[in-house]
Amino acid sequence: MKYLVLLLIVLAGIWWLRLQRKPKTKPPAAKPTGPQAMLACVHCGTHVPESEATPGAKGPYCSPAHRDSHEV
Ligand SMILES: [Zn+2]
Repeated sequence: MKYLVLLLIVLAGIWWLRLQRKPKTKPPAAKPTGPQAMLACVHCGTHVPESEATPGAKGPYCSPAHRDSHEV
């Protein structure tokens, strides 16, 4: 009977550690896909992530092709 109580305490400890660990592992996983600025293409209005946008003299573009056709 003593071992059963000990086992329950150990299981409760593992369960508690899991609960404690859950919120900690969530933020790093959300970080890479976290808030990223979306820029609207000046030419067609398509929203693209800042990292994928093509910068131009008149603003961000969704592709170099739109930049070239807009800034002639
Ligand atoms: Zn565009």
